[in-house]
Amino acid sequence: MCGTNSDYADSAGHSRIEALKVRDIMTPEPRALLPDETVSRAATLMRDADVGMIPVIRSLKNRELVGLITDRDIVVRHVAAHHDWDCSVEDHMSAENLTSVEADDEIFRAIRLMKDALIRRIPVTDSDGRLVGIVALADIARQLGPEAPTTVEELLERVSEPAHLPAHV
Ligand SMILES: [Zn+2]
Repeated sequence: MCGTNSDYADSAGHSRIEALKVRDIMTPEPRALLPDETVSRAATLMRDADVGMIPVIRSLKNRELVGLITDRDIVVRHVAAHHDWDCSVEDHMSAENLTSVEADDEIFRAIRLMKDALIRRIPVTDSDGRLVGIVALADIARQLGPEAPTTVEELLERVSEPAHLPAHV
């Protein structure tokens, strides 16, 4: 019934996705913005890529993750504030308590963060905090085969939580 044709499913219908690391599933070298680019540029990228969040990096050279900007940030902090000039990404991005995972984290950590933060995409960094990828709910779901779930809740029902991880990470 659930994903039994998938190479990643065991006989109980549970996915072996638990064994995967974030780096096994992430999209490497994701599109990113620089802090001094404009919010209209950010909005254009979001439209063209059909995404609602783009990571912000310090420079093209060191790629340190310094912020995240979402379509909601632009609507709430820019449009709704009646800014009629083109602010920089840095003016409206979130720069503290960024939700991110490291490439060597277990994929379940990304799934739980998606559930807790109500997001579908998470930036991936290396151990030095440099942006190396994006992991999306759709990428994880794809690993579960043709009957892939489309929501985090469905995904969590299909993926058994590793026993050694705390309930809240
Ligand atoms: Zn603004």
